[in-house]
Amino acid sequence: RRIVVCAGTGCMANGAMKVLAALRDEAGAHGLDLETELRFEETRERDGLLTRSGCQGFCQMGPLVSVEPDGILYCKVRPADVPEIVRETLLGGKAVDRLLYRDPATGDACRGREQIPFYALQDRTVLKACGTLDPEDVREYVAHGGYQSAAKAFRQMTPEAVCKEILESGLRGRGGGGFPTGRKWELARIQAEPRKYIVCNGDEGDPGAFMDRSVMEGNPHAVLEGMMIAARAVGAQEGYVYVRAEYPLAVARVRRAVADAEALGLLGDDLFGTGLPFRVHVMEGAGAFVCGEETALLASIEGQRGMPMPKPPFPAQSGLFGKPTIINNVETLATVPLILARGAAAFKAVGTAGSPGTKTFALTGHVANTGLIEVPFGTTLRHIVHEVGGGVTAKDGSADPAGFKAVQIGGPSGGCLTKAHLDLPMDFDNLTRIGAMVGSGGLVVMNQDTCMVQVAKFFMQFTQNESCGKCVPCREGTRQMLALLEDIVEGRATEETLPLLETLARNVKLGALCGLGKTAPNPVLSTLEHFRDEYEAHVTRKV
Ligand code: SF4
Repeated sequence: RRIVVCAGTGCMANGAMKVLAALRDEAGAHGLDLETELRFEETRERDGLLTRSGCQGFCQMGPLVSVEPDGILYCKVRPADVPEIVRETLLGGKAVDRLLYRDPATGDACRGREQIPFYALQDRTVLKACGTLDPEDVREYVAHGGYQSAAKAFRQMTPEAVCKEILESGLRGRGGGGFPTGRKWELARIQAEPRKYIVCNGDEGDPGAFMDRSVMEGNPHAVLEGMMIAARAVGAQEGYVYVRAEYPLAVARVRRAVADAEALGLLGDDLFGTGLPFRVHVMEGAGAFVCGEETALLASIEGQRGMPMPKPPFPAQSGLFGKPTIINNVETLATVPLILARGAAAFKAVGTAGSPGTKTFALTGHVANTGLIEVPFGTTLRHIVHEVGGGVTAKDGSADPAGFKAVQIGGPSGGCLTKAHLDLPMDFDNLTRIGAMVGSGGLVVMNQDTCMVQVAKFFMQFTQNESCGKCVPCREGTRQMLALLEDIVEGRATEETLPLLETLARNVKLGALCGLGKTAPNPVLSTLEHFRDEYEAHVTRKV
């Protein structure tokens, strides 16, 4: 048997480690011989393995405990539940009914993931290993085929062939704009400079987004393997993982992954017997949202103040320390080993023609099933909110089937999607067409009680705080936009306020230097477009 306790941040905050300790103690008290660490060399027959995994995704129901091969998933497990789990399941082979998820539609208990709509309606590809493997044991990753794609890239493929495979797969960067990854790699590959770098952007700072954190916490070796493949593709010798300091568990697990990969000789001066070196450093960001912008991130690694620089030159031409540098986000890099393992054609078979593959989203807000999800590009918002998410909830958390109002997608850079967009296949191009963006993948669901002007003000407050101050349109423009929004919600607005806000938003978008400023007006512009009546109600009623 394999008993897996979810050790993602959400479950750990809810006491998952106490559940793990209780399982170990209670099983021992009943004479069960459970191993708590996989020992591949061991031949002794055991009663099972008790281990932890990264985020299993169903954060709303944590702490989660799964028991395999019984196919059982227990939800909201407390240490007090452990004696019953040991007695009934580990000794008796039966499921504890009261700890199973109940389908709200039918009231039926769901034994395992296959029966739980939240899981059954997803396509968990990049996230698959996050909920099953122990992220702190490199041997588990290796035993499940890990580092085989990197070995293939180094031993059997030329850099040109690796770039071509990624280009053919149609992989687009999962961190924001959706730029084709293969084109970026090819640009770096053809640079004559002998010294090159790979940087993993783990500076995920959007309110409501936690996809990259979960991948770093749950499957850090996949990220490292993606970096190794990128290094092979462009000829880089060194890499950096830039992680938010506010993600201590992700920092610890990535550091451990690097140390373990080095200890096994997977990272170092001679990758896969080719004589090619690749070393990885882990660097903690210092809490500035703007450092998620690639040129600011590079400045931060170099020890300078994290401020964006104009482009071109692009980092792939002249990046870290002036050398060609590939910057990819966590999810993009974690997807790369899967493409090499299965082939570009298999990757393209999922998703849409312009946006192949799957996308992870952090689903939060007024929705029944909050958590980390993964669906193919092209999935509709209706499927995500009403099927995977289990529908909209009211203020008190009860089901509110008619209560859908909007979804904020892409955090402070994104826009809002309304009822009119429920059946829009979500991919990079469709979202851009309607003035929104995938962004990093935060989805905040809002019900009818939500004031959209307050939502716009919240995001403007965020971007105004995070503006680095380098350029006037963003530094002063966001400040003035925030002041106008405060006038609106505090009853001081006049009939000139809305046109002024709109003009200012368009000018900030045009004049700001980097992505932060260029996209900061998006929440204001999209709420003005779709919910202008709410702004006008504030202005005319002075509320
Ligand atoms: Fe800084 Fe804003 Fe200008 Fe970007 S747009 S450089 S965050 S002031």
